[in-house]
Amino acid sequence: MPVRVGIPRALLYYYYFPMWKKFLEQLGGEVVVSGRTTKGILTRGVQRCVDEACLPIKLAFGHVQDMVDKGVDYIFLPRMVSVARREYICPKFLGFPDMVKQNIPGLPPVIDTAVNVRKSSRDINQFIWQVGAVFGKSPLQSWLAYRQAGQVHNRYIKLLEQGLLPEEAMQVLAGKEAPQADNNADLTLAVIGHPYNIYDPFISMNIIGRLKKAGARVLTPDNLAEQMVNQGVSRLPKKLFWTLSRRMTGGALEYQRQGKVDGIIHVAAFACGPDSMTGELIERYIRREGKIPFMSINLDEHTGEAGVITRLEAFLDMVRWRRTAG
Ligand code: SF4
Repeated sequence: MPVRVGIPRALLYYYYFPMWKKFLEQLGGEVVVSGRTTKGILTRGVQRCVDEACLPIKLAFGHVQDMVDKGVDYIFLPRMVSVARREYICPKFLGFPDMVKQNIPGLPPVIDTAVNVRKSSRDINQFIWQVGAVFGKSPLQSWLAYRQAGQVHNRYIKLLEQGLLPEEAMQVLAGKEAPQADNNADLTLAVIGHPYNIYDPFISMNIIGRLKKAGARVLTPDNLAEQMVNQGVSRLPKKLFWTLSRRMTGGALEYQRQGKVDGIIHVAAFACGPDSMTGELIERYIRREGKIPFMSINLDEHTGEAGVITRLEAFLDMVRWRRTAG
């Protein structure tokens, strides 16, 4: 029987799931994903996690608990330190596997090998070999498995750059048809935020889905090629060392530069230091030119859906009014 490896539908799932899945399957594992976020999953995460943690970390706890309940043999929680040269991922990712081990009882073994390519992209080999060793694979076998996973990742990124959202791109990779383009949309809005906030329909109160239903085409930083994101962020006087903050800020500023979006919505999580810095930075640049309407939405476990819906409706009305007013 294959080893069942659980991947929580949280944190960097929206960036790396297709690649991780392929890698683990090539190594001989069977991948099990936690369920879609529900109130129950969030509540269990809040109960297990420390109060001071940000909302996405609390939610990720709930997804890990869901994997424990599903009885998987391993939980895949790579210790994400750095995914790009001279950059870091938020330190909460670094400590996440330890927090989980401390606070969730009955945990199966955790594959928490570090991903750290801050100094050199070749350092990913350590990760590949160590994960492969868990499945009894040689370094060469592990590397071949990872190479196939890398090809899947490249296809996934291309699909995102064609305008698909992560769930849509994953469906295409699974052999389903690509969704129809939003040809009837009369507006284009950029939704900027951490992937685990904007793409999780429960935690984001389905902001993207609601905007689409209201007739808007939605773009996110992940629909831009990396060089476009970097072009956007190159307007800042200093380099951003946080990969996700760089992608969010670069995405917003590039959409502003291109002039192809009618409005920008920044989605931030309560108790997130990087989000407060990034949000302020983006807002300052967008408002300085004053051409594109901007709105910021803060999410926490108590955020009321009605308030978010009202604000989205008001924002859409204002953007449409500005367009007709010329
Ligand atoms: S970047 Fe913010 S939301 Fe993400 S893990 Fe760090 S503190 Fe939490």
